[in-house]
Amino acid sequence: MFTIGAHLSINKGFENIGLESLSIDANTFQFFPRSPRGGNAKPLDPEDVNALEKLMNETTMDVILAHAPYIINLASKSEKTRANAFAIFEDDLKRLDQLPNNMYNFHPGSHVKQGADKGIELIIESLNKLLREDQKTTVLLETMAGKGTEIGRNFEELRAILDGVELQDKIGVCLDTCHVYDGGYDIVNDLDGVIDDFDSIIGLDNLMAIHINDSKFGLNSHKDRHETIGNGKIGLNAITEIINHEKLRDLPFYLETPNDVEGYKNEIALLRGLYNE
Ligand code: FE
Ligand code: FE
Ligand code: ZN
Repeated sequence: MFTIGAHLSINKGFENIGLESLSIDANTFQFFPRSPRGGNAKPLDPEDVNALEKLMNETTMDVILAHAPYIINLASKSEKTRANAFAIFEDDLKRLDQLPNNMYNFHPGSHVKQGADKGIELIIESLNKLLREDQKTTVLLETMAGKGTEIGRNFEELRAILDGVELQDKIGVCLDTCHVYDGGYDIVNDLDGVIDDFDSIIGLDNLMAIHINDSKFGLNSHKDRHETIGNGKIGLNAITEIINHEKLRDLPFYLETPNDVEGYKNEIALLRGLYNE
């Protein structure tokens, strides 16, 4: 079964985001559990959460993906910034425990001028305090485009983080097609080679989700500018191969393309048409 959804706004509540997803033929969705720029999160409404759970029980929607705010940086040089990131992450994990089957994707962080090794060390230190044996949510490291001093610009950096995490069954990876392509992995001409690399360095058993985006600038650009499906440097042929690849096709796919809900509906219809059921 093809699991596909889009990043939608949670402003109207969990039941509504579920219904909106079904209305665009999606069977999952991604959401910000709080403003992407941080700030306090609204308390969860248990009735609304129950309604989403019911909807998930009655449909093929069986997993959802939360995305951490962009501003959090567990690798920051500043202790204050790290503490702030830690507090948001901790609070998000508590809230997500109350939601049905979900995962929590985050950008590993930026080392600023400390060097990747130091940044990775700081991320591991925080993760080992944040992850709990009793949590339900799987936390995902996102593959990054390598803009500025972003950590996660290559598979080795994610491997280094995974190696340091004690609770291995609480962590995984989300692959962003725009980011890996911008980061220098040629998923257009050598998809099998990139997947083999991923498998030998990170392990495909750690791959839990895919952000399916086209890229405005393309291979090695390190720009991280998403494009609508088929209109960027990755293109529709490569995207068709990605969603149908035997090692990827059963994962949940999430659109983060520059679109409104109507645009996502059209992209989902397009991808469903290209997916070999
Ligand atoms: Fe992201
Ligand atoms: Fe992404
Ligand atoms: Zn991005």
